[in-house]
Amino acid sequence: ASTYAKPFNEISGVITEFQNALACASRLFEVIDADVELDEGVDKLIEPRGSIEFKNVCFSYDKSKKLIENLNIKVEPGQKVAIVGPTGAGKSTIINLLMRFYDIDSGQILIDGRDIREIPLDDLRSNFGMVLQETWLKNASIKENLKMANPEASDEEIIEAAKASHAHSFIKKMPYGYDTVINAGEGTLSLGQLQLLCITRVMLNIPPMLILDEATSSIDTRTEQRIQSAFNKMMNGRTTFVVAHRLSTIKGADLILFIKDGAIVEQGNHSQLLQKNGFYAKLYRSDFEIN
Ligand code: ADP
Repeated sequence: ASTYAKPFNEISGVITEFQNALACASRLFEVIDADVELDEGVDKLIEPRGSIEFKNVCFSYDKSKKLIENLNIKVEPGQKVAIVGPTGAGKSTIINLLMRFYDIDSGQILIDGRDIREIPLDDLRSNFGMVLQETWLKNASIKENLKMANPEASDEEIIEAAKASHAHSFIKKMPYGYDTVINAGEGTLSLGQLQLLCITRVMLNIPPMLILDEATSSIDTRTEQRIQSAFNKMMNGRTTFVVAHRLSTIKGADLILFIKDGAIVEQGNHSQLLQKNGFYAKLYRSDFEIN
């Protein structure tokens, strides 16, 4: 579970090796500082259907400055939720709370009607697949990295997952194929390729619920289409929260949460929100120049 124990906003974005080392150090303290009581829950989630509810959730990082007040969200099993809003609005915070990187101050977060504080932390996190912009890949071979999700996976299963996520074709072209070491001289991959590998890894063992962070950085159109197609396969039937930047994702979501200053200022699907002619409609008309 340690790979999951990182606040969400810390792991987004393109991070160089050096920044990464710094970020890891500060993250560690943040996780230790975070006031989360470990593993008090006893009953595991068994085959969750994936309904997720935030009920009157209040939270602030700094107790003198309120951030989230009375947040209410209700997500049905299998729904796709796009979280949209300007930088600093609180999008990552919602994910941090759902993953219990931080505990809420009051209210409840429920999965299939169960308070997440009553679910063992490892179990809670292992029921979510996270595909983030920073990819958590180790300096090891591609195959070893992929097997982290499922040590039992056979070579055939790995190749099948890589094909499904459109990673197989570039892996095949690497000097040592699946045995190429990432980040070694021969294994330099583009950001988009790294993300495809990360998707392949999740594909090898897809948990019932997903958290996706769409890249804001420039990825070439073809890779972006591949990532999108892999995401779509992965999301099928799974409750998914996407910190969304792409119009196609946002338009296709069952529920769009427009977040501003820690509050949902509008929610609904694309056509409902356009009809409201408010924040979302304005953003849509401005071509989704979010920041
Ligand atoms: P978004 O994901 O929409 O860009 P965030 O959820 O990261 O926004 O941040 C919401 C607010 O909380 C911002 O004002 C941000 O500076 C603050 N914040 C985020 N993470 C932390 C943290 N670990 N400690 C203190 N403040 C934080």
